[in-house]
Amino acid sequence: MSAADSAREAAAALERCDALGLNATLHWSAELLDAQAAAVDRRAAAGEVLPLAGVPVAIKDNIVTADAPTTCASRILEGYTSPYEATAVTRLRDAGALIAAKTNLDEFAMGSSTEHSAFGRVQHPLDAARVPGGSSGGSAALVAAGAVPAALGSETGGSVRQPASFCGVVGVKPGYGRVSRYGLVAFGSSLDCVSVFGRTVEDAGRVLRAISGPDPLDSTSLAAPPITPGPAPADLRGVRIGLPREYFPADLDPAIRTALDRVAGAVRALGGTVEDVSLPHTRYAVPTYYIIAPAEASANLARFDGVRYGLRRIGPEGDVRSLYRATRGEGFGPEVRRRVLVGTYVLSAGYYDAYYRKAQRVRSLIAHDFAEVFASGVDLLLTPTTPTTAFRAGERTEDPVAMYLADIFVSAVNLAGLPAISIPAGRSAGLPIGAQLIAPAMGDERMIEVAAALERMVSAVAEVR
Ligand code: GLN
Repeated sequence: MSAADSAREAAAALERCDALGLNATLHWSAELLDAQAAAVDRRAAAGEVLPLAGVPVAIKDNIVTADAPTTCASRILEGYTSPYEATAVTRLRDAGALIAAKTNLDEFAMGSSTEHSAFGRVQHPLDAARVPGGSSGGSAALVAAGAVPAALGSETGGSVRQPASFCGVVGVKPGYGRVSRYGLVAFGSSLDCVSVFGRTVEDAGRVLRAISGPDPLDSTSLAAPPITPGPAPADLRGVRIGLPREYFPADLDPAIRTALDRVAGAVRALGGTVEDVSLPHTRYAVPTYYIIAPAEASANLARFDGVRYGLRRIGPEGDVRSLYRATRGEGFGPEVRRRVLVGTYVLSAGYYDAYYRKAQRVRSLIAHDFAEVFASGVDLLLTPTTPTTAFRAGERTEDPVAMYLADIFVSAVNLAGLPAISIPAGRSAGLPIGAQLIAPAMGDERMIEVAAALERMVSAVAEVR
């Protein structure tokens, strides 16, 4: 298929999603798709080798593109277009991909349901009353709806794996530093990772391969080659999978437990072994994350001051304070304001030691837990991705802690900087369940290969009882 045909197909699919009211896109245009496709077809005709020729990829709207606005789903950036592009986007274009759409998200990627978007919530593609997860809910919904085979999201604390699990698609968070953060609007710089959704593990792997690898424009990018997964192994002989008991609490949803038992069964059927392990500091992951991430956010979001980007409002006093107060008061939504306040508080003199410094120490303990189990010879960890299936819109918006607890099985990985993947593992009452594999540092390739082997056995749409 030519890129031109692929562009037309993508435009028709995006139109259907918009007509259904998914609200997954914030910006896309058929003209832009056609123009990109024409250029790709010309390059292919000239003999260029393009590994993603004509593949439409949607981009979360906190990753900058030069030919379309980037809003972070915030009023403060409404109408803003970046003068430069994110490295991940440039690499997708180099590989021949079509940048299909900018997708809706929780404002500045802060949330777990995509209800905190200034431009309205995203609907779950299987049930309009439910949320797709978040914060990369628009990207997850578009892949789940079949509009694009792959999409970029971002992870600071689970924002790709959690919506992937809710929507029944694949979500991969690479190890910290393996994909450049250049052009990803900063939230928590020590945590942020451009991450990938795919309809299949293979699709996600191909996109990851195109976008990963060192980048001189990001000083935290690792000097490691691009993530290049091999094919799914025929069996898992010699592979040791750990089941951390802290991720299987007594009150875990029984359907999710059964689904994970099936994945463990698939590991054994392929010749691998499964063993119980412990990550004793797991219960501190959510509180630690919700100190460190807001602390970094409060510093990173200081740049939205009414001077440099987007919205500019001046209060009645007419001075610089009133500029900040009016711009930020009007431009940021309630969840972003909450994060900035919490972050400023935990960094303030007198509270820094009690909160921020302590959280940094606990972060080391959490990373150490993972290092220990992997040092014991376990190759990968297997856990549920989320404690529940997709919840109803409105159910958690009044209670931030209930919202934060949606991240209970995902945030430790971000604190430790490890690679992890969520794959579909059946359904409960029609709603997808995700299984998560967590790998040691630099284990991205192996993790993706094993996930591809398991995907064949467990991802068929099967109701779990
Ligand atoms: N739920 C997390 C938060 O609200 C997700 C953040 C993310 O990964 N972008 O901070």
